[in-house]
Amino acid sequence: MGTFAISGCATGIGAATRKRIEADGHRVIGIDLRDVEVAADLSTADGRARAIDETLEACGGTLDGTVLCAGLGGHIGKNALVASVNYFGVVELLDAFLPALSKGSDPSAVAICSNSAQLVPDAVETPLVQAMLAGDETEACRVAEEECTGQLVYMLSKNAVGTAIRRRAAQWGEAGVRLNAVAPGPIQTPLLQGGLDTPGIGDAIREFKVPVGRWGSPEEVGEVIAFLMGPHGGFVHGSIWYVDGGADALTRSDSF
Ligand code: NAD
Repeated sequence: MGTFAISGCATGIGAATRKRIEADGHRVIGIDLRDVEVAADLSTADGRARAIDETLEACGGTLDGTVLCAGLGGHIGKNALVASVNYFGVVELLDAFLPALSKGSDPSAVAICSNSAQLVPDAVETPLVQAMLAGDETEACRVAEEECTGQLVYMLSKNAVGTAIRRRAAQWGEAGVRLNAVAPGPIQTPLLQGGLDTPGIGDAIREFKVPVGRWGSPEEVGEVIAFLMGPHGGFVHGSIWYVDGGADALTRSDSF
């Protein structure tokens, strides 16, 4: 059985994914702020370096999969923190794990995007996404703090993650490692609850139309991630899978 590194697995989608992957008999190295094998703060360069070093040490330099779930909602009122965790806390780990993944058995990686990533027109041209894609965390944090609302930082950070995944498809394919993302809609987790409890944001979430008429569960997202990580997803690469009860189809029916 394989060894998988999963960030953000103390709660929510990451915790459900961990449970699902462990049920298949795999070993999971969890990365989160606390209550996991590798306790590290992914909002700082030092914390990310420690997460990478300790994970690579724990797996002996070979990984069969990674799922990067750690993330923060735009409601928390700390825009630079959201930018750092949601983009740099994902992409730096992905890039650092590639050599270990390329030695793994049928290896693959999944990052968590969001169905909100496509709600900002020409998102990839915005200064925040440009700074993220350029790897300039200082500038990304400045733009996030000075020029954006929290919700905009959230949506743009997820757009940057999706773009980063797709831009890596050629290199990762050559390395023999599949790389995909899931884009969840509203999923019942502590992150969603935080948004629901925030004045001015909670009502917007409640009014957001989901065609299937309900929000999703973390387990439903974990199932899709497990499929993408496993042998049945063997020809899926560079894709972003919406797990959102049809919300993206409702808002962008003619664009796919
Ligand atoms: P969650 O709050 O339950 O889980 C997020 C996890 O990330 C937590 O365990 C938290 O401790 C960890 N984390 C946060 N900051 C960290 C840091 N600095 N260092 C290390 N770990 C840190 O939320 P969730 O809903 O399960 O979110 C998982 C992912 O799914 C996130 O990337 C989120 O943006 C994304 N997402 C969630 C929804 C939703 O509606 N819940 C929708 C779309 C996308």
